[in-house]
Amino acid sequence: MSDKNYLAWPFFDAHHAALEAALDAWAAQHVAGAHAGDVDAACRHLVRQLGEGGWLRHAIGGTAYGGAGDTIDTRAICLIRETLARHNGLADFAFAMQGLGSGAISLFGSDANRSEYLPRVARGDAIAAFALSEPQAGSDVAAMQCAAVLEGDHYVLNGEKTWISNGGIADFYVVFARTGEQPGARGISAFIVDADTPGLTIAERIEVMAPHPLARLRFSDCRVPANKRLGEAGQGFKVAMATLDVFRTSVAAAALGFARRALDEALAHATQRQMFGQVLADFQLTQAKLAQMATGIDTSALLTYRAAWQRDQGKGNNKVTKEAAMAKLHATETAQQVIDAALQMFGGLGVVSGQAVECLYREIRALRIYEGATEVQQLIIARELLKEG
Ligand SMILES: Cc1cc2nc3c(=O)[nH]c(=O)nc-3n(C[C@H](O)[C@H](O)[C@H](O)COP(=O)(O)OP(=O)(O)OC[C@H]3O[C@@H](n4cnc5c(N)ncnc54)[C@H](O)[C@@H]3O)c2cc1C
Repeated sequence: MSDKNYLAWPFFDAHHAALEAALDAWAAQHVAGAHAGDVDAACRHLVRQLGEGGWLRHAIGGTAYGGAGDTIDTRAICLIRETLARHNGLADFAFAMQGLGSGAISLFGSDANRSEYLPRVARGDAIAAFALSEPQAGSDVAAMQCAAVLEGDHYVLNGEKTWISNGGIADFYVVFARTGEQPGARGISAFIVDADTPGLTIAERIEVMAPHPLARLRFSDCRVPANKRLGEAGQGFKVAMATLDVFRTSVAAAALGFARRALDEALAHATQRQMFGQVLADFQLTQAKLAQMATGIDTSALLTYRAAWQRDQGKGNNKVTKEAAMAKLHATETAQQVIDAALQMFGGLGVVSGQAVECLYREIRALRIYEGATEVQQLIIARELLKEG
């Protein structure tokens, strides 16, 4: 069982520890274990369960729209992701995407946009998605080609988006498209596109090593009302980066949850696996591994909750670009190492399909790539350092 002493760290308020304890108990009862079979159905079910449990209220901002608070509490979403990831990767994914997919609406939506979408997201009645990446524009967001042209009171969208989580099951997508006010990143705008809008189709479903709903979207003369634009025309890059600034730290928290689960599994196995007349944990080689894993987990937790706490100090307005990048970089890379070490301790059992460490090994890999790959985080940290210097 994971050590919970970190909840007494000064980064947290009393209600954060209570939130973690309540969710931990709820998750053990409702979402523990991997989901086999139809991933779309499992995801829809998880979103509904998380809505009924009241947890999705934390994924949106604004009590008037069903949110737990007026702004998104970064420490709360991090604790929720960490806890869900420890129990079930798909449950963490379902929670995270409700937040990421509606984050731009919480931050930049008009009252009408917020009233229409956020209560449904918070109840688990509508599934959200965030559509930024394109086949030729992943790390290089400014190379985006999907275009939106204003015609009367509608924008007409043409182009593609790929790697879109919840693609195929989402009820709406927050889509970023080039509106051309200025070249590069300054000529992009953000829109809410309902999944049933004519001209929006699922061009391809993408199967990945840890199954999640994922798709390539195609927009062909897809007409979106101008009042579904989020923020000003040409401000879409700012909308995307502000949304990622909130949720990037929570990717670190999910990695932390996966790593904690791996350490729990490793400890349980190492203390009962008999060999050479003693148990695996009696060997100093094993102890060195366990020490390394625990130290990596604590440094990830310190970086993650430092970034979350710092953001919350400014009621969500503090800029935490460098701190969030450090947390994501360190926590995802460390979790990969911790999980690999745990799997190694299981020997042959570690690679058997369905074993917890085998699932974690597949689950963690994409976190080092999405929402800004490790190399991109390194560039962000260096850029911020050089600005400060
Ligand atoms: C499972 C999964 C879910 C996803 N969900 C979503 C989603 O919901 N919405 C969405 O919009 N996108 C999503 N993505 C897309 C994700 O954000 C992109 O995959 C990511 O930004 C990287 O883009 P790319 O795949 O085009 O790789 P590329 O940009 O081609 O990068 C390839 C490699 O080059 C490295 N690199 C980049 N810049 C530099 C540099 N300057 N110097 C050296 N190396 C560099 C990268 O770090 C990477 O290792 C998802 C991806 C995955 C795998």
